[in-house]
Amino acid sequence: MRYGIISDIHGNLEALQAVLQACRKQSVDGILCAGDIVGYGANPSECLAVLKEVEAICVAGNHDWAVAAKLNAIYFPSDGKEAINWTRGKLSFEDIMLLSDLNLSCRNDDLVFVHSSPNQPEVFAYLADDQKAKMAFDAMEQSICFIGHTHVPQVYTKRGKSIINTNTFEFEVNPDYEYIINVGSVGQPRDGNPMASYCIYDSDAQMIELKRIQYDIQSAQRKIIEAGLPEFLSQRLSLGR
Ligand code: ZN
Repeated sequence: MRYGIISDIHGNLEALQAVLQACRKQSVDGILCAGDIVGYGANPSECLAVLKEVEAICVAGNHDWAVAAKLNAIYFPSDGKEAINWTRGKLSFEDIMLLSDLNLSCRNDDLVFVHSSPNQPEVFAYLADDQKAKMAFDAMEQSICFIGHTHVPQVYTKRGKSIINTNTFEFEVNPDYEYIINVGSVGQPRDGNPMASYCIYDSDAQMIELKRIQYDIQSAQRKIIEAGLPEFLSQRLSLGR
């Protein structure tokens, strides 16, 4: 099975289409989405429709649940709150129900995927250091977990008791190790690289690749401005911050 694993689309249709096209070229069998389909970008409803069309299996991000009023947005930054209110106004009742019905995590024999961390996924804490990674590994039953949320691609590898944190972009899975792979963000990367981020996992070959692809950033930026969303949400796309 070849999985295309994506996260943090944030209503950026141009980035989503570029990533899905790349996944098709790489003959993926299915798309897994680790949440934050909406929020920040100008095409939340269109992104939901595209994911439905490709039969992506999705879990809930904090923005998805905040739009569906399942999560209080009180701790969101002000532009995040503004985007949530704007997004809610753009979605149909069916779209909101779809977001509301998303589960926090999804698993099969090969892997688990979740937005923030397999440890207390309902808290939506950022898994951004080895201590948080250790707690996440302790909560895992599978040996491979895919996450998003920080918008920064990263690989945490557990070898015995030690945890190694790298940004290796292509590797073979070692059956003696455990892995937490942050697949980065499709629609709002924050690692200084504005290209859309995604991951390919081939469970037969046991290969994992973190990949980047160019997309039409200017169109996504223009739509954000035209929608009357905060200007910073447009500017940051070309900065990758
Ligand atoms: Zn996000």
